[in-house]
Amino acid sequence: MKISQAVGNACTVPASNVATQDSNRARESKIIYLPGTNCEIKSQALLSAYTSYQVGGAAELYVAPRDVEGLQASLKYAKERDLRVTTLGAGSNLLVSDRGISGLVIATRHLRYKYFDHQTGQITVAAGESIPSLALEAAKLGWQGLEWAVGIPGSVGGAVVMNAGAHNSCIADILVSAQVLSPDGTLETLTPEELGYAYRTSLLQGSDRVVTQATLQLQPGFDPALVTATTKQHRQHRLSTQPYNYPSCGSVFRNPKPYAAGWLIEQSGLKGYQIGGAQVANLHANFIVNRGGAKANDIFRLIRHIQQEVQERWSILLEPEVKMLGEFQAA
Ligand SMILES: Cc1cc2nc3c(=O)[nH]c(=O)nc-3n(C[C@H](O)[C@H](O)[C@H](O)COP(=O)(O)OP(=O)(O)OC[C@H]3O[C@@H](n4cnc5c(N)ncnc54)[C@H](O)[C@@H]3O)c2cc1C
Repeated sequence: MKISQAVGNACTVPASNVATQDSNRARESKIIYLPGTNCEIKSQALLSAYTSYQVGGAAELYVAPRDVEGLQASLKYAKERDLRVTTLGAGSNLLVSDRGISGLVIATRHLRYKYFDHQTGQITVAAGESIPSLALEAAKLGWQGLEWAVGIPGSVGGAVVMNAGAHNSCIADILVSAQVLSPDGTLETLTPEELGYAYRTSLLQGSDRVVTQATLQLQPGFDPALVTATTKQHRQHRLSTQPYNYPSCGSVFRNPKPYAAGWLIEQSGLKGYQIGGAQVANLHANFIVNRGGAKANDIFRLIRHIQQEVQERWSILLEPEVKMLGEFQAA
């Protein structure tokens, strides 16, 4: 393994080093340290380890900053080299190509802190914190408002970007503000109105901004035992109606209202249909599960097959909710 040590300020690498590093980037595994931060950029990091589908190739470059300064330095590093940046939360709504993805993947998994303000009932929480853990923690304090979220295995940042939701509630209902970092390093605090929320979407999707923290409004003062019981009921309901026993990304398609995508897929006779290791779940047809050894491309081909079948029968083109990264082959 070749180790490169950046010198100078946080993100400046001497020009000769940059040329060598960049020309070797695709071939060699290496680590680049960003001085002044505790950030290490690794090359060829396998993303199957960081996604709920457990499939996919490597990130050309990968970094998991521990604070905003590390994030800023990572974004600056990418900007100076004209690298494409992809933000990775808990990877629970992602399908990464078997060929991997180019540019720099910035993971938020080490951005961790949370502050419960007992005066206001607000939680200010870092992007990398887990939504299910937060829901259980709030419930144990007797704070209502996050019970619905316990079955969503994402990060706070991912939930803000996706407008994650369940049981007729969603993040937009409880978000006070989100702190967002732009590629030029500036931090902004945005309201839900500025984030343009709608069903499972926000203006942050497809943008190059990174959510660093969120402030959520909850209602304190309830019986912790009751709030915890409701939260656990939601979790139990999920476990009995959705296939949590195999790797998946949750619902693959958005619901084309007034229809439920799962119903359309089931009515098209596709429950149990399999391509390679990827299968339309028997328990819930809007889930594609990795039955073991699936390739990302198996999942991609199954997505396309479902779209074709449903379109033929119902004249409805199902729109994927899962974010697909990298290159895929339809045939
Ligand atoms: C078993 C299972 C059940 C699920 N059930 C539900 C459900 O009931 N409701 C629901 O809404 N979803 C559900 N999901 C899908 C998924 O958990 C949500 O979409 C979740 O919000 C994704 O968060 P994440 O951190 O995993 O994001 P990722 O999958 O890592 O990323 C999703 C998108 O958000 C972007 N992103 C992530 N973090 C940031 C950030 N900090 N800043 C900027 N962009 C960012 C990524 O670039 C990507 O475009 C389920 C998934 C699974 C596996």
